[in-house]
Amino acid sequence: MSQAGMIDSFGRRISYVRLSVTDRCDLRCRYCMAERMVFLPKKDILSLEEIVELADIFIARGVKRLRLTGGEPLVRRGIMDLVRALGRRIGQGLEELTLTTNGTQLEKVAGGLAEAGVRRVNVSLDTRDPQRFAHITRRGELSQVLRGIAAARDAGLHVKINMVALAGLNEDEIADMLLWCDAQGHDLTLIETMPLGEVEADRTDHYLPLDAVRRGLEERFTLHPSFHRTGGPARYWQVDGRGVKLGLITPLSENFCAGCNRIRVAATGTVYGCLGHDQKVELRDLLRDGGTERVNATLDVLLAGKPKGHDFNIAAAKPALARHMSVTGG
Ligand code: SAM
Ligand code: SF4
Repeated sequence: MSQAGMIDSFGRRISYVRLSVTDRCDLRCRYCMAERMVFLPKKDILSLEEIVELADIFIARGVKRLRLTGGEPLVRRGIMDLVRALGRRIGQGLEELTLTTNGTQLEKVAGGLAEAGVRRVNVSLDTRDPQRFAHITRRGELSQVLRGIAAARDAGLHVKINMVALAGLNEDEIADMLLWCDAQGHDLTLIETMPLGEVEADRTDHYLPLDAVRRGLEERFTLHPSFHRTGGPARYWQVDGRGVKLGLITPLSENFCAGCNRIRVAATGTVYGCLGHDQKVELRDLLRDGGTERVNATLDVLLAGKPKGHDFNIAAAKPALARHMSVTGG
């Protein structure tokens, strides 16, 4: 097996992989999915064993952090078996296993996640108003998610709330969300809407640039730029006198690609070099009958072509990519 680290043609070392374990979801957030989504047949999706095999290949090549995502990762049947299997890799090359979830199933599994070695979860929560929540997610029930978040905290997991900032939908709640996160011991990351995949609504209606949001917050809070970096897209701020860390993910108003340390695997085994490009390789058939060496050689092809960066334009008539965010899970 090739043990060489994964370094792209711009010298960026890949140490972080986001693994989407399903394209399915129990919610239909308006900015993410169309009302009627067509999901993939089961045979097209990597089995749990294939996901573990692929994770082992990544770990052998220097990947330190794995994040499970979706669709909604917790609706995948057998997900906790996968979490336990990957959790056993922590300390054996893997440093961290995390999860991004909409929180609807978290109440049931928070204790199991902690037992498996998960220490942090990102939970998406765009509003704490039940009606708005039902509107934005098209079918979600806020109380279920809030119970899930509380269960995660009680199980000792550190919770980061992900909030997509939406003009006219939740922009008036951002300061309150920051205060609530502070009171609950969570961190908060705000995300700009990205033009990925056709959805019924016009995203430009709700696009909210986060530099303006930050200036608004600075009228009320003193924000100190933090040097905390995850190699990911977020820039962090410390809020004066408070424990909460504020992250801003600004793919449109401020490009973040130079320090990119990550690649993304869709549930089908397609691996994308960049969230904002279609550059990809297909690993599913190679995992099924090609063998580890061919998987590694194909990953090298991906690394050689990993784009320098992305360039989204929210006002363009078409989405930047046909692929929905639920394919790569953020
Ligand atoms: N279902 C899980 C969840 O909602 O956390 C994981 C997958 S979801 C695709 C990951 C993150 O992407 C969520 O925080 C969601 O709000 C965000 N997201 C989805 N579509 C987006 C878009 N078009 N622009 C910006 N963020 C988006
Ligand atoms: Fe589902 Fe997450 Fe997309 Fe919402 S953002 S529809 S919860 S995958």
